[in-house]
Amino acid sequence: TTEREEESIGDGESVKERKLRENAEKFEFQAEVGRLMDIIINSLYSNKDIFLRELISNASDALDKIRFMSLTDPGLLGEGDAAELDIRISIDKENKVLKLRDRGIGMTKDNLIQNLGTIAKSGTSAFLEQMQKSGDMNLIGQFGVGFYSVYLVADYIEVISKHNDDKQWIWESKADGNFAISEDTEGEDLQRGTQINIYLKDDCVEYLEEDKLKELVTKYSEFINFPIYLYGSKE
Ligand code: ADP
Ligand code: MG
Repeated sequence: TTEREEESIGDGESVKERKLRENAEKFEFQAEVGRLMDIIINSLYSNKDIFLRELISNASDALDKIRFMSLTDPGLLGEGDAAELDIRISIDKENKVLKLRDRGIGMTKDNLIQNLGTIAKSGTSAFLEQMQKSGDMNLIGQFGVGFYSVYLVADYIEVISKHNDDKQWIWESKADGNFAISEDTEGEDLQRGTQINIYLKDDCVEYLEEDKLKELVTKYSEFINFPIYLYGSKE
């Protein structure tokens, strides 16, 4: 047997050693949300594919919102790229990161804090109960907590978001009870929308394979009214 090498995530740190950005503001997940995430990240549930369905569904909801608002105020869409209402999935094989980007409504700092961690939805405890009975994760979206299914395949994620009314922010978490938020001063300007950087677990690198992603995108895009583009690794 060979010793497992530490997985590099770009800047030479392993995911397990990775510390959240030092200058970031730290928050604790609401207790039930934290419990849910702990169960998800340690789950042996085999149908992990569903995370992509949930993220595509959230991107589509966000695009629906900006499109609806733009009916009365077309200026909200912005110009050039920002006006493209689409979903882009890209693969970074070298760093084992899957990226999902939408040009939807985006989230302000307050949205990020509330929607992704501190406000429990009514469905949170109901879903925990349901899962204890059946162990089935598939219905997670119906309980209003689909976002957290990303931790079936990731041990760290970044949510970078830009809403028209705010600056660009980075939310990050290892699903270990807390998350951090900091202003994004160095990343690419999203103009508007949300990008999720999914740092895949070692046993989930199949989601870097174009064929696998194509199959899933085809399956989950059936009822999505926006184009979804898939970009291969730039290695
Ligand atoms: P649901 O979609 O059922 O509300 P989720 O757990 O999937 O529950 O998502 C939680 C919330 O996070 C959403 O309601 C939305 O406010 C916010 N959110 C998630 N993904 C995005 C996104 N890509 N763009 C904007 N907001 C998002
Ligand atoms: Mg959702």
